[in-house]
Amino acid sequence: MKNNHGTLFVVATPIGNLGDMTTRAIETLENVQRIYAEDTRNSLKLMRYFGINNDLLALHDHNEVQKIEEIQKFLEAGNDAALISDAGTPLISDPGYKLVRELGKADIKIVPIPGASAVITALSIAGIPTDRFTFEGFLPAKSTARKQVLAGNALEPRTQVYYESNHRVQACVEDIVEVLGANRQITLARELTKKFEQVYRGPVGYLGEWLDEDTKRLKGEFVLVLQGADKQDDHSASELDHRKMLKVLIDELPVKQAAKIASQLSSMTKNEAYQLALSLK
Ligand code: SAM
Repeated sequence: MKNNHGTLFVVATPIGNLGDMTTRAIETLENVQRIYAEDTRNSLKLMRYFGINNDLLALHDHNEVQKIEEIQKFLEAGNDAALISDAGTPLISDPGYKLVRELGKADIKIVPIPGASAVITALSIAGIPTDRFTFEGFLPAKSTARKQVLAGNALEPRTQVYYESNHRVQACVEDIVEVLGANRQITLARELTKKFEQVYRGPVGYLGEWLDEDTKRLKGEFVLVLQGADKQDDHSASELDHRKMLKVLIDELPVKQAAKIASQLSSMTKNEAYQLALSLK
């Protein structure tokens, strides 16, 4: 059904290297009547660099819900708008999902202007299977919660992609080793597309040491691409994974609760998990 509403363009911007801005992104940001940006000060630099003169308004995690009505009215009046985030593709660990959902319901046209995203950029050079993968976004900041998520993914056969901040990358790597063992293959990609872009590929057991070798390696932005659980040695691998998962859980929870969660996350029955948990206690 046709209407006279304007369009929301969801526009990807570079994740570091401004040379990755697409022609379509520049044209779109020039042509819309208004741009919504996660951080207007940050996006102003991008606008200036590309000589784009346009109104920038803030749309971030804290005001997204309140802004939806205003944006919907603006578009329903026949104006076009663009949504950008600080870097990469909006909605990918960035605000915008609720806005897109509601505008979709209101029958407003939403057009993607694709470009860089750290998840795909990292996968493209990881050297870890990319036929199937899960994007996990940021792991929890606290170690206990982080280990629970990792334990929940211990048997996941697909490649897993995590975003991580420089404050936590070392602690996160330690938790991966503790929960999944030292042998899992991992690719750490830091500062993608930027001057100090760097990549580690190998077992996660050596990654902590690699990071410690040079303090500069702990700076910047990181993506972790983790190989999925090995399917070849299903039985012994799952036995090992069950033990690892339960070890993490019983460190934090009473045995009964740990067994219940472990059975929900694995092929073990509650009783099998309980017996295994008791033997590990
Ligand atoms: N929307 C962005 C995208 O499409 O990738 C992601 C935004 S999220 C708030 C920021 C996180 O993405 C960083 O903490 C880091 O994990 C990852 N990231 C963004 N740019 C990166 C880069 N140049 N190199 C490595 N990781 C990056």
